[in-house]
Amino acid sequence: MMATLIVGMLCVHLLCFAVMFWLISTRLQGDKLGMSAFAVGNALLGLAYVLQLLGGPPGWNAASVLNHTLTLSVPLVYGVGGLRFFGRAAPLLRPLLAWALACTAAQALVQWLAGSVARYAMLSFVSALVFFAMSVAVVHAMRELAKDLRVEMALFALLIGGLGVLNAIKGVLVVRDGLQALDMGQRFQIGFYIYMSFLATVLAPSTIWLVLRRLTDALRDAAGRDPLTQLLNRRGLLAGLQGHFSSRAAAPARLLMLDLDHFKHINDAHGHQVGDRVLSHVAEVLRQTLRGGDLASRTGGEEFVVVCLDGDDEGAMRLAERLRSAIEQQAVRVPGTHEPLRCTATLGVSLAFDGVGGFDAALREADAALYRGKAAGRNRVERARTGWQNAPPRS
Ligand code: GH3
Ligand code: MG
Ligand code: MG
Repeated sequence: MMATLIVGMLCVHLLCFAVMFWLISTRLQGDKLGMSAFAVGNALLGLAYVLQLLGGPPGWNAASVLNHTLTLSVPLVYGVGGLRFFGRAAPLLRPLLAWALACTAAQALVQWLAGSVARYAMLSFVSALVFFAMSVAVVHAMRELAKDLRVEMALFALLIGGLGVLNAIKGVLVVRDGLQALDMGQRFQIGFYIYMSFLATVLAPSTIWLVLRRLTDALRDAAGRDPLTQLLNRRGLLAGLQGHFSSRAAAPARLLMLDLDHFKHINDAHGHQVGDRVLSHVAEVLRQTLRGGDLASRTGGEEFVVVCLDGDDEGAMRLAERLRSAIEQQAVRVPGTHEPLRCTATLGVSLAFDGVGGFDAALREADAALYRGKAAGRNRVERARTGWQNAPPRS
């Protein structure tokens, strides 16, 4: 009676969360952070427990075969959901059908060769193996894909590993005591279902929490980026600087301001869309030329700001020269025309600054140097002077 009640509640819980996961997935794009797969997984497991309740005592019947096939398929579906959550493309339908067919065939074979006890023992041992494998996969994901979710992933691995242990014990009990070990009134069975309910209660809201975290992180990231080039915008740049200077051992930074030469001509001659293409191309050059620790941003129309977070004045000048030369040398391919488009840039390099408070002053220094570069003929790099304040304002 007790076990029946627990399994009944478990069904309701699993099916309710299946609907909730599916509803959440309808609001998400692409692979939906795995939510549609998690919805399918919950629905299949819920269905397996409905069959458990309605299928009668253990034995060779269609309900029990379907129940076992569903139970063994669920980890695969959750695995696909997990991969999609971490941005890996993973197909669901074909592998699921193939695995379900294999499970059904294996059950028929074992039943025919060795009888019901062997078939139920096989379910428990294969489940144990699958859950151990899942637990190892979660630890691997924690190390490789989810360094920001270590605690959550470690908890998942522990809980899933626990399910592996319980299934292994269940397999041993079935081998020792036969089908009566599966009686819903047995103490082990009650403990097993209590653990399953606990798992479902913890894992389902945790999954929603992980999805919320991913979404809010993505929102925060998007708010700090320029939509055209995907470089940082001013807000993202300041956040990056704040992160850098919050460390006590932070080295002083230098700022490079880059402005494309005669960009208005490009827009006027080829149209705004080609102008946008040139901006994206320059952003790509920046990404390829900069070192891992540098921050690259688009702060205005055709103005880019790069912050070098380590190195010295000469290093910043060399980087600016590398950027200038890369932009000059790499032509932009414009669809519809054979002639590749070339553009140049002028750069101003600030003096060192060692706090977010120094950012605006560094910006003005680099801007004044940039202005001198423009006045001296463009396509060049100019270094800030200490008396930059006397420079005339740029129009
Ligand atoms: P200089 O060498 O002195 O920098 O000349 P310039 O033509 O590059 O400078 P100016 O400031 O006169 O022109 C900048 C142009 O950039 C004007 C504006 O139409 C264009 N612009 C600003 N934002 C965007 C954008 O997002 N896309 C495109 N295609 N053009 C933009
Ligand atoms: Mg310009
Ligand atoms: Mg400009």
